[in-house]
Amino acid sequence: MNAYLCLGANLEQPREQIHKAYLELAAHPGIRILRGSSLAKTRPWGKTDQPDFHNQVLEIETTLPPLELLETALEIEQKLGRVRKEKWGPRLIDIDILLYGDLVINTDKLTVPHPEMHRRLFALRLLAELAPNLEHPVLHKNIETLIQEIESQGDM
Ligand code: AMP
Repeated sequence: MNAYLCLGANLEQPREQIHKAYLELAAHPGIRILRGSSLAKTRPWGKTDQPDFHNQVLEIETTLPPLELLETALEIEQKLGRVRKEKWGPRLIDIDILLYGDLVINTDKLTVPHPEMHRRLFALRLLAELAPNLEHPVLHKNIETLIQEIESQGDM
């Protein structure tokens, strides 16, 4: 199955952290990285008094079912030294599952498509580099359309 991951970091050389997460993902036998977006610097989202974030979106092919992919992402975050503190606070590394094929999942542990994805211009823009015509499986709009909708609202 093809899936899209969003990597984010804003502490201790964020580019380095994202690169480390990329290498960990690439080394996993159940994951093949197909393509990566550019690595973009973005203003912090939600909680604004913190360093800028760096983000990258990866297109992967995986044999892992969704919950195992999530477990793997969380394990990599831990291995890289992430400590969970406040929501939307600074983070060494964050790995979110944006999309897993066209599956819609709503469980305690995992929501796919990622519940904030369609509101986050930084994630949508990176995703659009790889898959502008991909349809959001809940909203049934493609990524370019979701971006245009946010931009036409004019506040970020
Ligand atoms: P955060 O790292 O702050 O984004 O939150 C991670 C937590 O969100 C994890 O413990 C997951 O159980 C949960 N979660 C729910 N949906 C997703 C998703 N699509 N990708 C990553 N984490 C998710």
